[in-house]
Amino acid sequence: MYEVAIIGGGPAGLTAALYTARSGRKTIIIERSMPGGQAALTSWIENFPGFPEGVSGPDLMMKFYQQASQFGAEMITEDVVSADLRDDVKIIKTTGRAIEAMSVIIASGAQAKKLGVEGEERFQGRGVSYCATCDGAFFKDKKVAVVGGGDSAVEEAIFLTKFAGEVHIIHRRDELRATRILQERALENPKIKFIYNTVVEEIKGNKGVEKMLLKDVKTGELREEAMDGVFVFIGTVPNTHWLEGVDLNQGGYIQTDDFLKTNLPGVFAAGDVREKFLRQVSTAVGDGATAAMSAERYLGEK
Ligand code: NAP
Repeated sequence: MYEVAIIGGGPAGLTAALYTARSGRKTIIIERSMPGGQAALTSWIENFPGFPEGVSGPDLMMKFYQQASQFGAEMITEDVVSADLRDDVKIIKTTGRAIEAMSVIIASGAQAKKLGVEGEERFQGRGVSYCATCDGAFFKDKKVAVVGGGDSAVEEAIFLTKFAGEVHIIHRRDELRATRILQERALENPKIKFIYNTVVEEIKGNKGVEKMLLKDVKTGELREEAMDGVFVFIGTVPNTHWLEGVDLNQGGYIQTDDFLKTNLPGVFAAGDVREKFLRQVSTAVGDGATAAMSAERYLGEK
């Protein structure tokens, strides 16, 4: 029996684990892949305090993981398939086992939203990617598209110019959503071109991506554009499909109070998976610490 089970090993989950393990609570982190979550897929992080020169997402997340482990937090790499969190003893079922815990912190984060167009699934891993850090190097001197107009799209487009010959940002409006500093950098980058007011209708090819069918949303005009790769950064969806009995908002994000308590006693939520204003590593860290202290208080009262 664990005192604290943390679902998700991204910045929120790893921070929560650091706090609960350091408080001497028997802690387990259940993470489906590598520690670090989406932050570990982020090429370069410039707005996490303490790193004035910036830091690579994977490096920062490895440090988070080391720090939590050094205080005794255990981590297993398994997918959570269901969880019964209503009673005093919480039972989390993973692909490999059932884990019992007295309290649970849900920090399962969010994952890349899909375009939902023809060819996207077929060419995933063969030209369609949701991670520039993972796949950018495959596109040396190639022509790639980045779909989206937010911080992720623009930041990763800039990163991709290290490898690709041309990076085309395809955005459905005529104005980017990304913060001004990122927009300015992208505008100054000679390798980046903008295709505004345009949506992707289809991704085409044979063995890999060869072209995209694009639609101008103002004129309705359809045209094909040759492309070697397509990086999709159009936002995220929360990883809550396996949850039962926890109150979610319309978008599927977990509702919490200021103490990061959910509607179920002993169940807390932290990071991108919960309904919140700002989804960043720095806010995930704050959430992890808060959820851990709330869990600590709950265990103390028990
Ligand atoms: P986001 O801010 O939600 O932006 C998503 C972008 O994709 C928007 O431009 C949106 O267009 C577009 N989009 C959404 N659905 C689409 C669809 N079906 N087809 C075409 N385009 C679509 O998502 P994000 O960029 O992944 O960022 C998520 C959060 O992480 C944000 O809070 C962001 O600030 C943060 N973040 C911060 C940093 C940083 O601070 N350095 C880096 C990365 C991410 P519209 O603009 O028309 O809605």
